[in-house]
Amino acid sequence: MFFLFLAGEPEFKYVGNMHGNEAVGRELLIFLAQYLCNEYQKGNDTIINLIHSTRIHIMPSLNPDGFEKAASQPGELKDWFVGRSNAQGIDLNRNFPDLDRIVYVNEKEGGPNNHLLKNMKKAVDQNPKLAPETKGVIHWIMDIPFVLSANLHGGDLVANYPYDETRSGSAHEYSSCPDDAIFQSLARSYSSFNPAMSDPNRPPCRKNDDDSSFVDGTTNGGAWYSVPGGMQDFNYLSSNCFEITVELSCEKFPPEETLKGYWEDNKNSLINYIEQIHRGVKGFVKDLQGNPIANATISVEGISHDVTSAKDGDYWRLLVPGNYKVTASAPGYLAITKKVAVPFSPAVVVDFELESLSERKEEEKEELMEWWKMMSETLNF
Ligand SMILES: [Zn+2]
Repeated sequence: MFFLFLAGEPEFKYVGNMHGNEAVGRELLIFLAQYLCNEYQKGNDTIINLIHSTRIHIMPSLNPDGFEKAASQPGELKDWFVGRSNAQGIDLNRNFPDLDRIVYVNEKEGGPNNHLLKNMKKAVDQNPKLAPETKGVIHWIMDIPFVLSANLHGGDLVANYPYDETRSGSAHEYSSCPDDAIFQSLARSYSSFNPAMSDPNRPPCRKNDDDSSFVDGTTNGGAWYSVPGGMQDFNYLSSNCFEITVELSCEKFPPEETLKGYWEDNKNSLINYIEQIHRGVKGFVKDLQGNPIANATISVEGISHDVTSAKDGDYWRLLVPGNYKVTASAPGYLAITKKVAVPFSPAVVVDFELESLSERKEEEKEELMEWWKMMSETLNF
C-alpha cells in the first residue's frame, strides 16, 4: 500500500523473533502492522502523520525455523532454549561480524569510527560462518539508508542500548558509545511508555537475576552482560542506523491469551519509538548546481561518530537537545560547518551547499587573470 519512496523521508525498521523461541515481538509486530493500517483508515492523525513522514519496515520474524521448533513443543510450558538458534544451530545474535573489536582498536590507534564494513561486503558474502539469515539482514542494513531501528527479544523486560560488547572483554562493564546521550534517550522513549518496563518497583523476572544495571527500564548493553557479534552494535558501526534491543517479556513463549496484554503494554512504546526518528538534525547535501551529493560525511563536534548522506543527498543525524557544530564534507568539495540549536523535536532542517574544489580553482584562476589584466593596463606592460 505504501511503497512510495520520497527523498528526505527517513527509513525505520523493527525486527522481531531473531531468537525463534522469543515469540512476543513477532506477535506484536503483526499487531502493529494491522494497527497502523486500521488507524490510518480510521483517520487517526498521529498515525497518518507518522506514515506520511516515515518509511516503516516491519520484519516480524528473522528466525522462522527457530520459531517452528519452539512452537512444535507440546504443551504450554516451553523449554528456555529450544528454538533460540536457526535451523543450523547458529545463535543469530552472536553471528554478526564483531565490529566492536575493530572500533575499540581504532579508538586507541586511530581509524574510522563508522561504516566499518565499507570495503568488506564481498568478505561477508564469502564468509562460511555467517548464517543465511545473517547475510540477508546485513544486505538489508547496507542497502537501505535506515536511520532508526529496534530488535525485539524476550526473556526480560528492558530497553538495551549500545555498546553491547565491553571494551575490556569483562562480562559486565558500562560500555558507552559516542552517541550515549541520544541512545539513553531513545531507550527511555520506549521504556517510559511501557508501564511494566518502567516500574521502578518491578521485581526481577527471576529471583536471582542481576538487574543492577537497569535504570528506568533501560540498560547499557555491556553493563548488563557483554554480547559479541550482536546485530545492534553491527547496525551502529556498519551503517547510519541507530538500533536498540528491547526485551519485551519475562516469559519467552507465553500462552496465547496473554498476548493482548503485551500489546496493550507495548502499543504506545512501539509508536513513540518510531516517532524518535524525527529528532536531531536533517537535510540535504548538494553542490552549487543543486545536484545531490551522496555519501557526504556529516560530523558533529564532540561526537566521534559520523553519519553519511544517502543517494539523494539526504541525511539524518539523531541528537539530544543542545547546541552543536555540524560539518558536511565530501571528497573534492569545500567543507561547511554550521551552528545549530536542537530542541527535543522536531528535527531542525540544516541544508548544505558545497562548492567543488575544481570550481573554486576556476574562480581563483579567473580572479588572477583579472588582476593581471588590471595590473598590465595600469602599468602599461
Ligand atoms: Zn533474545
